[in-house]
Formats: sequence, structure tokens, C-alpha cells
Amino acid sequence: LVSREEAALALDLFEEFINEQSFQLILQCHDRICELLKIRPSVFLDFYPALKKSLNNWKANTLWSKLDKRAQQKVYEGGRACSGKKVLIIGAGPCGLRSAIEAQLLGAKVVVIEKRNDFSRNNVLHIWPFVIKDLMHLGVKIFFGKFCVGSINHISIRQLQYVLLKVALCLGVEVHSGVSLEGLVPPDVDDPDAGWKACIQPEDHPVSQFEFDMIIGANGKRAVFDGFKRKEFRGKLAIAITANFVNNRSEQEACVEEISGVAFIFNQKFFNDMCEQTGIDLENIVYYKDDTHYFVMTAKKHSLLWRNVLHNDYPDTQTLLAPENINREALYEYALEAAMFATNYQLPEDIAFAYNHHGEPDVAMFDFTSMFASENACRIVERNGKQLLMALVGDGLLEPFWPTGSGCARGFLGCFDACYMLKRWASGEKTPLEVIAERESIYRLLAQTTSENLCKDLASYTLDPRTRYPNSNSRKVLPIHVRHLYDTDRPEKIETMMRKTASISKEEKENIRSLKALKNTESRLMSWFKLHLFDYPLADISDICTSFQTGQPLCALIHRYRPELLDYNSLDPEDYSGNCSLAFSVLEGMGIKPVIGGEDFASRGIEDKALWISYLQSVYLLFKGQIP
Ligand code: FAD
Repeated sequence: LVSREEAALALDLFEEFINEQSFQLILQCHDRICELLKIRPSVFLDFYPALKKSLNNWKANTLWSKLDKRAQQKVYEGGRACSGKKVLIIGAGPCGLRSAIEAQLLGAKVVVIEKRNDFSRNNVLHIWPFVIKDLMHLGVKIFFGKFCVGSINHISIRQLQYVLLKVALCLGVEVHSGVSLEGLVPPDVDDPDAGWKACIQPEDHPVSQFEFDMIIGANGKRAVFDGFKRKEFRGKLAIAITANFVNNRSEQEACVEEISGVAFIFNQKFFNDMCEQTGIDLENIVYYKDDTHYFVMTAKKHSLLWRNVLHNDYPDTQTLLAPENINREALYEYALEAAMFATNYQLPEDIAFAYNHHGEPDVAMFDFTSMFASENACRIVERNGKQLLMALVGDGLLEPFWPTGSGCARGFLGCFDACYMLKRWASGEKTPLEVIAERESIYRLLAQTTSENLCKDLASYTLDPRTRYPNSNSRKVLPIHVRHLYDTDRPEKIETMMRKTASISKEEKENIRSLKALKNTESRLMSWFKLHLFDYPLADISDICTSFQTGQPLCALIHRYRPELLDYNSLDPEDYSGNCSLAFSVLEGMGIKPVIGGEDFASRGIEDKALWISYLQSVYLLFKGQIP
């Protein structure tokens, strides 16, 4: 039905689509290709083979061979694992789009809505090895040839969105820009066939008629769906500054070395020199050369006041960092001088700031003093016999600390886990409560993941958590613990469901027993630490988790038994992150692998208390019986 001319034109347009660098133009290009080929975004098996058949040149074929290979993974069941299910995704950030690709490969009908009309973030994301592999398998090089050619692996947020958007569109995902979610509309009680719908802006947009079974909140850190409580992790004051400069790709710029991350504790001289010469006092700094020269640093408040970046000092961070308390010109100078010093004045003297979407120099200041994570990763709401599976992914699930760049990596893991839950739910093999419990069990692992403690065989990662997390235990949380996450207008169903899952009560008993054992270990460790830190008043402990976030108890303990390994008296009591990193790395040198990064632990603590206790238990076993 497609003429030769139309097919040739579609192929030309596909070339444009591959190279296009604008959200709107990518969507338009895709629309025109679909029009010419007389296809419409639809489920994977209806759309992708038709597109693939019509677009045939080496570039297209290279992409198809990559996508074919991905689609053949068993977990997708030939694109039928979730056939008949409809998914609405809120937000076309990296995590919304990555989730869309997976839900589409599972065979669901997938619609993404994005409130913005353009992708405008210059900032650059650090990417873990598994993310590189993942993007390579999706054909990233076809869309962005320069991907990971530098010495450090990163990609700008905008570029990552372009690549994922193009892959999602090629698989048949429907994407709408300028459309925003306002709320949910339960199924109409008078219509037995009616499903869940969304209340959106603009009101009359066709997506308002879309009925869906699952909704994925990928709308960034302000994600709020009812029923997802946010937990706050308060650390010490942390003010991050990001700055982007134009990269003219000159020879001079090419020679400037990137900085994968220098923290105060590992290079005190560098930071002391910077402070002495410029008055800029930082805790860490990262520099990536990408589409822009991108810097992210954590600045100490006193230096922002001293350099007049902040007009006045206030105890409350919101007032402290309110626009009216910031002198933007002084902020630009601060960022520029820090960038120049950190790169040894190798960047061109006349380097200019890149501009943000407001047409202003792209320099911003953010508060990371308190960060948020959702208490739960999913829930099910049932009205009028229609279940709605709700999931959070990305920053809304677990807020990342940008200087460590974990946002996209943990973000992608959460996307895979959410889509695996969709598969389990769609299979109907488990009760909804079991599906929720399984998802929440896996969620417990997310905050602790590092690129080192994931499974080593990156090529065999799939949606199945067991291929990614070495110690995944899908029954850590039991159905009885997640009853509150199943909100139904027929509560009697829950009782029936609980009876069905009664066979697990043995396991539950086991769980209670291990909880008791954990409590005993905790109190034994507390007494031991208190006794051995008696001479170190600053390292006093009252709580097995939070008291350790200052880093001092572990440093003090090391100092007590092995004073040659660290200089306890030179520690900065305010530098929690540096102290934790130091203690973890010294203990690692003694054979105890860290279970979390120092910076992460200092700023947000640790969610998996049992894991932390087992770490402290190893420390106890290391020093127990030794003569101080
Ligand atoms: P996001 O990338 O935030 O995407 C969410 C999307 O949802 C947005 O496009 C938003 O417009 C859309 N949206 C929101 N509400 C609605 C709604 N109601 N309806 C429809 N759409 C909606 N990480 C770093 O590691 N380093 C950095 O320097 C860095 N800089 C950042 C700068 C900014 C301004 C922001 C917002 C984030 C930054 N991050 C940074 C975090 C990083 O971008 C995220 O970890 C990563 O993009 C994954 O996030 P996400 O997909 O969950 O959310």
C-alpha cells in the first residue's frame, strides 16, 4: 500500500529523525514517517515490524538488529507478556522514557505525556557501566556517535532524552508534549466497562480519553501521587552549584582534563589552595566535558557569604537560598573562578557561559541538605472492579545527590523493577498483594546499589531483578506488610487474599525470629561501641544508624586500635561525608567492603538497617579482642 516514492521519502525523513536535536522536531519527523508508511503508534508487535519492514538501509538495519536482539529476551515473551495492558507514563525525562521502552517491549500499549515542549537541560549525568551497556544495546551510537568517547563516562541529560525518545518512538510508544497530569479519574460506576482515566491539561486533549491499567510517575523529584509518603533524609547543609560553559571544541579545550570527582578528604591541599587563593571553599567538584563544559560542586556556606554570593546568613536553607538572597553576578564569578582553578586555568580565558531555557547563564544553586525517597515504590487502587497499578520511578522514587551522579543509574534500575512488576501483575499468577510485596522487597535494595555491588555480567541484565542484584530476595517484604498499599472498595477481598497466602506464615515466623536476632545484635553492638568510644566524646553514639553519619565513631574506633591509619585530631567534625569516606576506605583496606558510599551515607543514612548492622558486626569482629 506504500508507494516506492513514499517509502523513499520516509527513508530520507528517517535520516533526519536520527540526527534531529529538538523534542518538537523529532516528534514531527516521526509523525510524518508514520503518515507516509500509513502506520500509527501502537503495541510493539503491530508497530515495530511494520516500521522495520519499510525502512531499509544500513543505519536503519543496524538499529533493527540491536532492537531485535533486545526484544528477543525471554522476559518479554515475544512481545506478549503484557498484551492487553495499557500504561500511562507521566514525564519524558530519562526514567519516563526508559520505562516506556520496557513496557512497550513487554507488549503493553504505552502513552507518555510530558508537560514541557522542549528538552533544555545542559547538565551532565555520570553513567555507570551497566547504563553504558544498556544504551549500547538500544543503539545509542546510531543516534549519538560521540557517546562515551571521552575519558569519563557521561552524557548530557538532554542528549540522553533525545536518544531514549527516538528508541521509544521506533518501538511504537505514543508521546505527547505540552500535556500535563492533574489527577486521576476513577472508573465511572454506571459503566461496567469503564476504566481509569487521567485528568490532564489541556482538558480536551485526546489522552484524557485513554483508559489505562497502570500509571508510572516519572515526573521528577516533585512526584506526588496520593498514597506515596515521602521520607526525608536530613544531612548537614549541602549546597550544590552547577555551571555550564560553551564548548567550542577547540584544541585548547580538548587538552583540558576532566575531573571525575575530587572530594576534600582525598585532596585537602587542592581545596586549601583554592580557598587561600580565591576564597572559594568547596567540599567536592566534578568536571565533565560534553556538549558543554559542565561543573558540579558542593560549596561551603561561609565562602558563599564571604564572596557575597549570599547576601545574608539564615539558619533555614529555604530562606538562605531564596532568589532574593542570591547575588547572581557574584554566583557567576564564583562558578567561573572555581572552574578555572579546578582545571588549572587551562580553559580559554574568554570562556562563555552556556544559556539555560530562560536565556540566562546556565549556573544554578540547589539545596541538598534534605533529600527525599518514597516510602513505597508502588500501590494498587481498585474501584468498581478495576485495578490501577501505580508505580514511581526515577527522582520521585529516590532522589539522587547530583555530585555523585547516581540519578540515572539507580533511576534505570527502578524503571526495570517497575516494569518487571507490571509483567508479574499482568501474568495473573500472583495475588496483587504478592505482586506489591515482591516489588517492595526489591525496592529495599535500590538505595544501597553502587556500580560495584551489582551483578558483574552486565550483558545479561534483563528486567528480572535476579540478573542485576546479587542478593535479591523477593520475599523480604511479605503480603501482610503491604496491606495498606492495596486500596480497594471491596476490602473483603484482602482477607480472602491473605488466606490464600497463609502458607507463607512459616516464613513470616522466620522473619519475626530474624528481626529479634537483629535487635539483639544491635544492642550488643551499641554497648560494645559505647564502651570502646568512651574516650572520644565527639564520637558518642545513641543510635546505631544516625550517630554513625558524622563518620566520627568509625574514625575514632579505627584510631583507637590502629592510630597510624588516620589522624583523628585533624578530622573536621563538620565534614560528615569526608569522615565517612575516610573510615570506609580505611576499613576496606583492612578487608571490610563498604555497603554504601561515604557521601551517600553521610547525607541520607542507610535504609537497609540489617545491612548496616552486618557491616558494623564485621567491624566488631575485626577489632574484638585486639589490644588498643
Ligand atoms: P526528570 O529528568 O526530572 O524528568 C521528569 C519529567 O517529568 C520532566 O521532563 C518534567 O517536565 C515532567 N513532568 C513533571 N511533572 C509533570 C506532569 N504533571 N505532567 C507531565 N509531565 C511532567 N543529575 C545529576 O546527576 N547531575 C546534574 O547536574 C543534574 N542536574 C539536574 C538539573 C535539573 C534542573 C533537574 C530537574 C535534575 C537534574 N539532575 C541532575 C537529576 C537528573 O536529571 C535525574 O536524576 C534524571 O534526569 C532522571 O530523572 P527522572 O527521569 O526521574 O526525572
